[in-house]
Amino acid sequence: KTAAPPDLNAIADGVVNGSVKELAKAITFIESNAASHYNYGQDLLQKLLPHTGKAIRIGITGVPGAGKSTFIESFGMMLCDAGYRVAVLAIDPSSSISGGSILGDKTRMERLAKHPNAFIRPSPSGGTLGGVHRKTRETLALCESAGFDVILIETVGVGQSEFIVRSMVDFFMLLTLTGAGDELQGMKKGIMELADAIVVNKADGANKPLAEKTKREYNQILHFLQPATKGWQSKAYTCSALKNEGMESIWSVIEEFRETAEKSGVLQERRRSQTREWLHTLIMEQLQNHFYRHPYVKEQIGRLEQGAMDGTITPSQAAEQLFKHVYGQD
Ligand code: GDP
Repeated sequence: KTAAPPDLNAIADGVVNGSVKELAKAITFIESNAASHYNYGQDLLQKLLPHTGKAIRIGITGVPGAGKSTFIESFGMMLCDAGYRVAVLAIDPSSSISGGSILGDKTRMERLAKHPNAFIRPSPSGGTLGGVHRKTRETLALCESAGFDVILIETVGVGQSEFIVRSMVDFFMLLTLTGAGDELQGMKKGIMELADAIVVNKADGANKPLAEKTKREYNQILHFLQPATKGWQSKAYTCSALKNEGMESIWSVIEEFRETAEKSGVLQERRRSQTREWLHTLIMEQLQNHFYRHPYVKEQIGRLEQGAMDGTITPSQAAEQLFKHVYGQD
């Protein structure tokens, strides 16, 4: 027995009119692993595409304990109180591996979760990191079409997740703590190079002078790095998410960023190339799936692996043999 297909036009209308209930329904299709739901989700996205693109997309990363959820709650509350509609999404790399969560779940950001202008969606769970990537990206588009003004995407600095978030946002922010020196030694300089701002959190109480010092150290380093965004000098700032200090200035930085990058065309160009790269990511994934699921590959791969390890065939020859069989002579 099959259920009647959903009225996609009604759902799309609901989303465009800002209905959170219809938005949640649409996201459920996007997140489902059932083929029919996947198709509903894609049809919905296509209908909603003309309504996307108006929000500012902000990525936030930081190690566990940096204060991401405290920050998002304070920052989000300020924006919601000012009348903005704010959607909070997350990419939790652990959710795809173990179904567990580094970022924690909905019990965080309790005040923000209750605000009528806020919408919080935890990281999709299960499946590959690639699947989580797709679901989050498509959920972002749905939220935009539902009229959210600000999209915050949170992640934690593990593996590829920071690069994934960077690849779908306009503005990328690293939330960090005092002791830049220590962190820099262990930390990947690569993440600093992705950041449009570094925010030293917990600049309160006795920690304040040290936070200011850390900010200066970061600024010195940032000065010598390639800018993450052409025409924008990334800088370091301090804030106290807990004491609700520094939220307005960070928002002004983001507004200035948006104005600068829109005026120069860098923002539009970034979004276009993000979409192009995303298309290629999907092609690579499909190719990989197609290849490894091919009966010939499944049958031969073990033998060829063995041959390569034993030195009876070179890895290049082994790969070529499989490719030729699956895709023909050229
Ligand atoms: P997350 O793991 O990055 O999401 O970090 P949390 O937001 O859960 O914060 C970790 C801990 O740091 C919690 O106990 C917070 O109360 C505390 N915290 C967060 N922001 C601040 C801050 O600005 N100042 C102080 N003193 N503590 C903070």
